[in-house]
Amino acid sequence: NRRPAANSVVRPDFKFENMGIGGLDTEFAAIFRRAFASRIFPPGLADKLGIQHVRGILLYGPPGTGKTLIARQIGKMLNAREPKVINGPEVLNKYVGQSEENIRKLFADAEKEYKEKGDESGLHIIIFDELDAVCKQRGSGAGGGTGVGDSVVNQLLSKLDGVDQLNNILLIGMTNRKDMIDEALLRSGRLEVHMEISLPDEHGRAQILKIHTTKMRENNVMGDDVNLQELAQLTRNFSGAEISGLVKSASSFAFNRHIKVGTLAAIDDKNIANMKVMHQDFLDALNEVQPLFGVSEEELD
Ligand code: ATP
Repeated sequence: NRRPAANSVVRPDFKFENMGIGGLDTEFAAIFRRAFASRIFPPGLADKLGIQHVRGILLYGPPGTGKTLIARQIGKMLNAREPKVINGPEVLNKYVGQSEENIRKLFADAEKEYKEKGDESGLHIIIFDELDAVCKQRGSGAGGGTGVGDSVVNQLLSKLDGVDQLNNILLIGMTNRKDMIDEALLRSGRLEVHMEISLPDEHGRAQILKIHTTKMRENNVMGDDVNLQELAQLTRNFSGAEISGLVKSASSFAFNRHIKVGTLAAIDDKNIANMKVMHQDFLDALNEVQPLFGVSEEELD
């Protein structure tokens, strides 16, 4: 299993169509070009151009729109090791120094390898979800007025571009509130590439529906009458995560049609041998699953 250098290698077997990401092809291509392309430059090109690899990007937008999905898939495409994922509120700790220690640990493997191998080190991707919870404007009292937020920001800055800067890391910050993030973190050399991931449009929703019903179709448990295009029209304002919830709900409606209340104990494979998820199940599910957040692009038009 070949390890990628900080100058990385794109796995040739990786195609966007197979990544299970609906909609976001333009965003994916742009993130790749802006944040990762320099890592697959031929040796010496980055030096020749006099540029440094991007060490941090910020993905922002409503919850459940595929930010984590994109970050993980890019990591896989570059054959990077499994990204470390951390959640803002998880980092915060009321004990003095513990939050900084949590951040330090996050970078420890990358640091160790960088010391040993320098720019030959593998690429380490760190996904920082809910970044706003710890990286609010300094002095704003993030971290429950303990000042913990400030030192977490300082710690991140020192890993990104401080004295002990690392060339083998890519920090992917995520937030629903870009406006809350400390500006110092968003400057060049830090989380310098900013990309908005919005709610999917109708085309994106159709793709996401297709992705989340793949198994159903492969296993022949989706009714012939299911019209994904119509469902895509009916799911305005749904995030990808909510569409995935809709598919789950439709499945439970289908299952419900096959059992009689009170007979749960008697359910076996035979009862559900003919079960199919029909269009009506999705329509029933639409009464149950509603979008929680945000305004879709079409509504803004
Ligand atoms: P949060 O801001 O809440 O962390 P997020 O934007 O990182 O959310 P993900 O964790 O990537 O969202 O999405 C949650 C799940 O929703 C995914 O694992 C996937 O099943 C589904 N999903 C979201 N967006 C998409 C998409 N564009 N295509 C396919 N599935 C999606």
